[in-house]
Amino acid sequence: MIFGMEGIDEAMQLEKEMIKAMERKEFCLFYQPKVDLVSGKMMGVEALVRWIRPEKGIIPPIKFIPAAEESGFIIPLGEWILRTACFQMKDWLNIENKPQYMSVNLSARQIYQPDFVNQVKHILIETNLAPEYLVLEITEGIMLDTFHAPKVIRELKNLGVRISLDDFGTGFNSMQYLQELPFDNIKIDQSFVRNCDTDLNNGTIVKSIIEMAHQLKMDVVAEGIETEGQLIFLQQNLCNIGQGYLFSKPLHPDELMHDFRSIEKVVNHKGIPHEVTRQKLNIEMLGNAHQDLIDTIRLQQGMIFKFKKIAGKFIHTLCDGKLLSQVKLTPEHVVGKELSDFLSPEDVENKISYYHRAWNGEENVTFEGELFGIHYLASLSPIRRGGEVTEVIGSCIDISEQKRIEEALRLKESQYRIITENTQDLIRVIDQNFKLEYASPSHEFVLGAPPEAYEGQLIFDMMHPDDCDRIKKLYTVAALTKTPVQTEFRLKHTDGGWVEFEDRANPVLDADNRLKHLVIVARDISERKKAEEFIRKADKLSVIGPLATSIAHEIRNPLTTIKGFVQLLQNEVEKPFYINTMLNEIDRIEEFISEFLSFNHQPINQMKKSDLSDLFQQVLMIIQPRLTMYNIKMEQEFEFNLPQLYCDEGQIKRVFLQILQNAIEAMPNGGRIQVKIARKGINHLKISFIDQGMGITEERIRKIGEPFYSTKEKGTGLGLMISHKVIKEHGGWIDIHSVVNNGTTVDIFLPINQEMV
Ligand code: C2E
Ligand code: MG
Ligand code: MG
Repeated sequence: MIFGMEGIDEAMQLEKEMIKAMERKEFCLFYQPKVDLVSGKMMGVEALVRWIRPEKGIIPPIKFIPAAEESGFIIPLGEWILRTACFQMKDWLNIENKPQYMSVNLSARQIYQPDFVNQVKHILIETNLAPEYLVLEITEGIMLDTFHAPKVIRELKNLGVRISLDDFGTGFNSMQYLQELPFDNIKIDQSFVRNCDTDLNNGTIVKSIIEMAHQLKMDVVAEGIETEGQLIFLQQNLCNIGQGYLFSKPLHPDELMHDFRSIEKVVNHKGIPHEVTRQKLNIEMLGNAHQDLIDTIRLQQGMIFKFKKIAGKFIHTLCDGKLLSQVKLTPEHVVGKELSDFLSPEDVENKISYYHRAWNGEENVTFEGELFGIHYLASLSPIRRGGEVTEVIGSCIDISEQKRIEEALRLKESQYRIITENTQDLIRVIDQNFKLEYASPSHEFVLGAPPEAYEGQLIFDMMHPDDCDRIKKLYTVAALTKTPVQTEFRLKHTDGGWVEFEDRANPVLDADNRLKHLVIVARDISERKKAEEFIRKADKLSVIGPLATSIAHEIRNPLTTIKGFVQLLQNEVEKPFYINTMLNEIDRIEEFISEFLSFNHQPINQMKKSDLSDLFQQVLMIIQPRLTMYNIKMEQEFEFNLPQLYCDEGQIKRVFLQILQNAIEAMPNGGRIQVKIARKGINHLKISFIDQGMGITEERIRKIGEPFYSTKEKGTGLGLMISHKVIKEHGGWIDIHSVVNNGTTVDIFLPINQEMV
């Protein structure tokens, strides 16, 4: 029923009349104050249109707005309303007791005009009003167009004006919009405000809307406040702004200015006192802050918890965070509980000591744990009040990913370690300044000192002086050309000797193709060198061997004849001294020849598993009388659990005898001989004979082992030659170090666990 007319005709009639009314300036805006419910101050006004018809009086909008919307007249009318309200606001800006903003109602028809946002913008420019003074009220009904409305609202918001959601609770309100769209406030519809203080349902609805709006950080306006009861109820529930007849009806601008003071007194006179609402507001703000904190804790990736000691137990007072649900727990499992209520006894045992430490005041106690496959790192800090720990706060972060990476790294590292620890090659990493950044564990075994003794040193510190320049040049070339080089060098062993290496140096480049390190893999080739040397010597022997044998035979035959005749002569001469000397010399030649022949004729043939220390004891028994005679002490140092050796016992005993014999002869004034048997690496046994004899010069050492070279004045050198041969046939080698006047060390290296030829 509109204006007492019915049907389309009436509607058209009304439209015509509205057009005329517009020309005659019969429309006018009334303004209704919006009041702050704490201070009572008039904050803003809402513009409400009125049609003042001559003779007929004031016509309320409900009587013509629907028709104007239907006919489309709302578009020019709305534009006029907006412009008029903006001009009015602009006017008020110049006076002292002014409203701080102007609210204008919009109808759906208006905001769906394609150019609406521009229209608002132009009116603001035309009226020279800053956008923050304008609030646009839209109803929930507008939100039905889910595509258009949100877009327009956002664009309006971008202009800088504020948006208010009118008649909240009456439409098809979708909570979703409340959260997604940038509303500055919501207006609780008067149908809820009415009776809110007397009707429990309405009261509950109003309360809930206020709480929800505050959670969403929006202000709440209550419209249609008519009674003190409603005002007090809204104040108690912390509604921000009120509007209604209790303060003022919509007024003509002149009336509004006139009533300004009395309007602002209403809250003070009729509501609850300022301080009380303030206090309540503070409490709510505190509550909000608390809620905020709880939400933040809940939403954080990790986990935060607190505990305190109550009756001797650590009781948790807070626990939340995403990590908590990842370990399949809820705050209810933890809060008010002690560790044993939600963890296994084993876990409790692991953690309780940390709890004690933090409770006793230790700062930053950290520990790691695992629950349901999640690895976490926890840290505890005590909270003190008046110097005493009253609570402990803890935080946990998920470190599963780091753990996984660490584990993978550890695995890789252990694989590398297996390689580097078990290789007998030296692996070394050096920087551009030839400083050793890394030395493999094999250094200890090959050079005598642990890797730490080498790391940080220049590689030249332990290199043979003759090799340094060459290596420096070569490595520089490798670094510059970024290509690997291969060479040989000698490094000092802690025992004073030099170890020969063959190496390959590989440049390692960084992501920018710049040289970062040189990785050097060096192999001890002393053994190979010795083997080569030995082969050289043995070759000599094999060449001269047969020749020497035939010579020996050729000598032995005539020698037998000579010896026979000399013996005959012995009985005939008066002074047998010369004859005796001759016979002695002949004996020596014979002895030598038979030794020589036996050597050439004795291949190794009786290989079997033998215990080296047993063998040695047998040798000792033979040699003991001579040791006693020369006042020589024998010290034995055999490693525990030595493996058995596959060897020709007789031959090896001969070698031992020969070497001990040499040692004894080198110590005419007595002394000490040490015999040590130990493993050398995985594959060899090392038998060392260390005497305190007169020693041998280096030059002589080089020649030892060659046939017919002897350090003993009268020796043939064959003894050592044979020893070399025997040991070589066992797959080993002999090494001789000597310091003149200080003693000689003979090291015999024999392979273990290998079938000999
Ligand atoms: P609205 O925007 O919700 O406006 C509030 C209505 O409540 C106004 O009625 C106002 O006079 C009335 N009101 C305020 N306090 C009290 C109170 O304590 N008790 C009671 N019973 N009523 C109170 P009004 O002016 O008749 O406007 C009615 C509706 O017409 C408005 O509801 C709005 O939807 C529409 N309207 C009014 N002016 C305009 C306008 O300029 N443009 C558009 N598009 N619509 C308008
Ligand atoms: Mg309104
Ligand atoms: Mg309303």
